[in-house]
Amino acid sequence: MANVLQPVRGTRDLIGDDAARHFHVVETARRITALYGFSEWQTPIFEDTKVFSRTLGETSDVVTKEMYTFEDRGGDSVTLRPEGTAGVCRALITNGLTQTLPQKVFYTGPMFRYERPQKGRYRQFHQIGVELLGPATPLADAEVIAAGWQILNELGIAKDVVLHINTLGDVASRAAYRAKLVEYFSKFVNELSEDSKLRLEKNPLRILDSKDEGDKKLVADAPQMQECMTDEAKAFYDSLLNYLTAFGVPHQHNPHIVRGLDYYNHTAFEFVTNALGSQGTVLAGGRYDGLVEQMGGPAVPGVGWAAGIERLSMLIAEPARAAVPVAIIPMGAVYEHASLNILRLLRVRNVAAEIGYSGNAKKRLERANKAGAVFAVLVGEDIKLKNLASGEQVDTTPEALPGLLQTP
Ligand code: ATP
Ligand code: MG
Repeated sequence: MANVLQPVRGTRDLIGDDAARHFHVVETARRITALYGFSEWQTPIFEDTKVFSRTLGETSDVVTKEMYTFEDRGGDSVTLRPEGTAGVCRALITNGLTQTLPQKVFYTGPMFRYERPQKGRYRQFHQIGVELLGPATPLADAEVIAAGWQILNELGIAKDVVLHINTLGDVASRAAYRAKLVEYFSKFVNELSEDSKLRLEKNPLRILDSKDEGDKKLVADAPQMQECMTDEAKAFYDSLLNYLTAFGVPHQHNPHIVRGLDYYNHTAFEFVTNALGSQGTVLAGGRYDGLVEQMGGPAVPGVGWAAGIERLSMLIAEPARAAVPVAIIPMGAVYEHASLNILRLLRVRNVAAEIGYSGNAKKRLERANKAGAVFAVLVGEDIKLKNLASGEQVDTTPEALPGLLQTP
């Protein structure tokens, strides 16, 4: 076995039950976001490195440690996307859609981050996500969050998660808060982790999101955003919370939610569960009003979230198995042609059906039973429909079969 090629560390195959859960999450999200008026986009899996390095923030973990960046054969620096928002905003601009607003975007697909693989943390993982581009009103934030909440509900995991929400304020609030944080953390500069020393100079807010245990202790007593909020920013947050109540989304204010990426303002939120150990955030996002402008477009406000499909999949019950196919059994080699004709007829009419690839009628029936088929169609001189559970058998015709087997 020494020669057997292995999957790359941090990647995994989606097969069997894992695949069923994964696609159940995707289909649920696709269906529910459509109810909220979102359309699905698919942007490239790799982009010009600047799409991410310029927007996610020079000091973010993603940009400093986690990006899969390489030079292609033409000498251009490209990056496998670590997240979806930057690509969607790039697409909004380069497709000339910044005047055609609002745009309500749903996306799903693989993301890539060079992290230490562990349960719920992979190097290729998958997200579902939404972006609502255009409206600057907190109603947009509330709608985006309500869509996420409904998805978690329909996946049956809402009971295990809590929505933590915070405001990062507007530009003026953030400037005031930044000054307060610099003043506070400067007193403890020797106790800060090396990463956070750098953050103190470049983006002190980021320290609040540090995963370093020493940093976390200092963060616990740090000044809070609330002290620095402008009246406008306060009003925005208050009406967002009211809208959430109107949409029936339970929420909990948490001043420590700041999000890892630089582009957020006003709203920041995370749906968190205790069921996954330290990988507890399942769906997270916020408002990013400056992002499109930062990428060279006009000022287009935006709000969105992304959720890790692997983490959601671990929380959901096993989805119902796909409909068990009908087994077509030729009662002898001469009936093979007629059997294939019936097989085709059924499939064209949306009935799942299979034919054993070989063996006599007895063998095929045995295999159909083993595979859990509910009905067998015995194709001989006559055509019989056999209920494999009860053994009951009726005469029928090829024309009548689809009607008998179609689930209402
Ligand atoms: P974390 O704090 O767990 O590293 P994050 O803040 O880096 O998360 P986001 O950038 O907000 O994560 O991504 C949104 C969601 O994508 C996360 O809440 C999580 O469910 C999922 N996610 C992020 N990184 C990974 C990963 N390496 N493997 C699997 N899922 C991930
Ligand atoms: Mg991370």
